[in-house]
Amino acid sequence: MLYPAPIWAGADGKMDVRLLVIEDDPDLNRQLATALVDAGYVVDRAFDGEEGHYLGETEPYDAVILDIGLPKMDGLSVLEAWRRTGRAMPVLILTARDRWSDKVLGFDAGADDYVAKPFHLEEVLARIRTGRVTVDGNPVKLTSHEYRLLSYLMHHSGRVVSRTELVEHLYDQDFDRDSNTIEVFVGRIRKKLGVEAIQTVRGLGYLLSPPTDAR
Ligand code: CA
Repeated sequence: MLYPAPIWAGADGKMDVRLLVIEDDPDLNRQLATALVDAGYVVDRAFDGEEGHYLGETEPYDAVILDIGLPKMDGLSVLEAWRRTGRAMPVLILTARDRWSDKVLGFDAGADDYVAKPFHLEEVLARIRTGRVTVDGNPVKLTSHEYRLLSYLMHHSGRVVSRTELVEHLYDQDFDRDSNTIEVFVGRIRKKLGVEAIQTVRGLGYLLSPPTDAR
């Protein structure tokens, strides 16, 4: 029923992945957009928080790259405002390398991942990469984080995987993440898949049943 498709969407042109870049530094904004377009994504750009917030509120993006320090409305306020109104698209925040608090506040505000400035463009591309699975033959787009989580469950299907194990697999060991984040991810993956593939085993973790359909 559920199969990983090891083809990255965006690169093969079969499924458009639409991204929003919100960065006020014109050079950095251009570099990011160019790299992402070259990688096959459809990219919209905003240069301040208000414009970015509006686009994210009104347009369907598969993921957003959001700078924290922005004119008119800062990145954290943008993110909080989206989450308050139920906008659940994955958001990668750009933080200053020496601002540890940005990362913590960013995750609290609903960020999915972060990249610290200055960064290599390849780093952003790796984080934003979109994976794909098929459900009953229909392609489903997943963020790299979601894909990694689901792949891990797939590789361990038939046994219960704890939240702690998933946190350890998904995040750098130097960043202590609240395992509630995993629930948010699993909820999002379930919604995207539209099938009851992942079971919650109360108090223990998650279980992905091995395929039983032997037709
Ligand atoms: Ca900035």
